[in-house]
Amino acid sequence: MTNQKRNNEIIYSFKCPSCEEGTINIFKSIYDLSDGDRMLILKFECNICNFHKNDVIPLSTNMEPGIMTLQITNEEDLKSKIYRSPVGKLEIPELDLIVEPGPRADFYYTNVEGILFRFESAVSIYKNNLEKNDPEISEIEELLNNLQKAMDGRFKFTLVITDPLGGSYIIPQNKSKYTFKKIEKKDLE
Ligand SMILES: [Zn+2]
Repeated sequence: MTNQKRNNEIIYSFKCPSCEEGTINIFKSIYDLSDGDRMLILKFECNICNFHKNDVIPLSTNMEPGIMTLQITNEEDLKSKIYRSPVGKLEIPELDLIVEPGPRADFYYTNVEGILFRFESAVSIYKNNLEKNDPEISEIEELLNNLQKAMDGRFKFTLVITDPLGGSYIIPQNKSKYTFKKIEKKDLE
């Protein structure tokens, strides 16, 4: 690791979800602001279509290895930004939903609402593949119902990211609902 400023470095590439042909590169640059703060700018750009997205992250954001926990109790909390790095595990314990670590398409750079939306699509696909008389159906319908309530801000839940390397982060809308527990090196061995 180096402390040097590295500008416009490509930090991650993945297949474009929009045109499904191009590659999206994520460029990272660091800007020093006049008031002494530093910002990390992430630029997402497809090399074929016009898919692009920018985001600005204050560098005070914690990117250490650890367990990040966010309580979601209202609609405003759904706007909290989430980035799950490929080694991060993401969980919503109240709904028994887990995204295991993995480097591929489940690149979760989104907000809480976006995560709920992805879970809902995945669960709906799962439900459609079940037989009509499958005993699991009622359980799945209850889960979809709770996901819908969660998307409306009417279901309180917890979002937990466990990242053993650091790189995942949560930027809460309301800081008092966020906690971070550092993972010590000895815990990983
Ligand atoms: Zn594209």
